[in-house]
Amino acid sequence: MLDLTYDAPAPKVIPGATGDWELVIGMEVHAQVRSNAKLFSGASTEFGAEPNSHVSFMDAAMPGMLPVINEFCVEQAVRTGLGLRAEINLKSAFDRKNYFYPDLPKGYQTSQLYHPLVGEGEVLVDMGPGLARRVRIERIHVEEDAGKSIHDMDPAMSFVDLNRTGVALMEIVSRPDIRGPEEAAAYIAKLRQIMRYLGTCEGNMQSGNLRADVNVSVCRPGDYERYQDSQDFAHLGTRCEIKNMNSMRFIQQAIEYEARRQIGILEDGGKVTQETRLYNPDKGETRSMRGKEEAHDYRYFPCPDLLPLEIEQGWVDAIRDSLPELPDAKKARFVTDYGVTEYDAGVLTAEVENAAFFEAVAEGRDGKQAANWVINELFGRLNKEGLGIGESPVSAAQLGGVLDLIAEDAISGKIAKELFEILWEEGGDPAEIVEARGMKQVTDTAAIEAAVDEIIAANPAQVEKAKENPKLVGWFVGQVMKATGGKANPKAVNQIVAQKLGQ
Ligand code: ADP
Ligand code: MG
Repeated sequence: MLDLTYDAPAPKVIPGATGDWELVIGMEVHAQVRSNAKLFSGASTEFGAEPNSHVSFMDAAMPGMLPVINEFCVEQAVRTGLGLRAEINLKSAFDRKNYFYPDLPKGYQTSQLYHPLVGEGEVLVDMGPGLARRVRIERIHVEEDAGKSIHDMDPAMSFVDLNRTGVALMEIVSRPDIRGPEEAAAYIAKLRQIMRYLGTCEGNMQSGNLRADVNVSVCRPGDYERYQDSQDFAHLGTRCEIKNMNSMRFIQQAIEYEARRQIGILEDGGKVTQETRLYNPDKGETRSMRGKEEAHDYRYFPCPDLLPLEIEQGWVDAIRDSLPELPDAKKARFVTDYGVTEYDAGVLTAEVENAAFFEAVAEGRDGKQAANWVINELFGRLNKEGLGIGESPVSAAQLGGVLDLIAEDAISGKIAKELFEILWEEGGDPAEIVEARGMKQVTDTAAIEAAVDEIIAANPAQVEKAKENPKLVGWFVGQVMKATGGKANPKAVNQIVAQKLGQ
């Protein structure tokens, strides 16, 4: 399969009083595994259910309960790793990360620190036609989510909802290869796209099934290139971590703010202190949540309740063989197979369902024309009405029917848009509608000639003018089109008018 080749985009540069600065960003993305049951219990993962209705004895940490790992969650994480071209570790292990919050009844989170399931991989982050940033993945580990503390239901009491407790998460840790706020958003968008193709995460940021901790530092131009291959990113400048972001817009704003804050400190001769910060979208600021001194001591140790996780190469290979075509490959194929631009291929492949719809329309037809109709008419209209492709009132077969009628010269482009409107509002078979409502294009030259003659006879003054000014031919064409209700074949009208006016 042809791989589109990409150049690296220029990093974002922020000019300061003492010279230019560049951004260095690494992300830890928490992606909720798409699975019906939790990581270590059979309780449902359904979102939005009655509080505390999906809680097993395991999730509530009743004494004596022991975890049993959900094989499907492991499979989903392996699938994600393969989709990110990562190494899969046949041996991994779970550790206990100890801390206490009411929404974590066990008093520890079962996670993977020392031996993650997935090792090094990479993602190509699309930054416009011909441009992509390669972001290295350091690891993906599997862990469980905590529940939810609710403080705004009662003035005096706090509540806890354990429905989310124990739901499987993948923590995807990147190297600090992201070089600007737009790239950070594009990186999450690409992870989300790949996981949605794979069916491993819904990627719905609003309902919290994709959240990110964003690590930001600033450096001087050239520093990143000097250190990018070492593991020692400390030389790049001290980073701050902005916790728990679940909006692309806020991620970008927080990075902008944080970079300028750090540059301000450094230019004043100060030092950035490594700390965890929170972004306040109302104020557009980040503020310190805890410094290094107050950092939790998680007292990690291997979880004694779970055996090391051993998987077989054959199982991993079978998962690899079952992977769907992924966005980069699909995009490249659309460019070669359908002759669409890389930009359009990107739009068409944004969601796997959109890509399938397009292919159903383009199959055996003019790919570029199909792309235009799908992107401009269909996606444009769906966006306007806030509908997904699954809710489209016009099916791929119907849209394909419209394109066939254009290809057969049965209708003009203008009538095709009217036809699309009818299909959208009323449904039906495109060819039957055209037939029944007399929308067929008039290609019968005798009929067109008659219409042209009538217009010429009725407008002698215009005819005189047109003899001197050939541009007036267009006016006659317009009149004929009007007289025929837009149904005359424009090519034929043009020819006949020019001929009759002696041009
Ligand atoms: P820790 O061991 O404290 O978890 P890591 O080295 O694993 O720290 O890094 C955590 C995240 O911070 C990773 O996503 C990594 O890419 C990012 N990171 C590390 N160093 C920097 C830096 N200098 N600037 C920006 N991000 C960084
Ligand atoms: Mg780390």
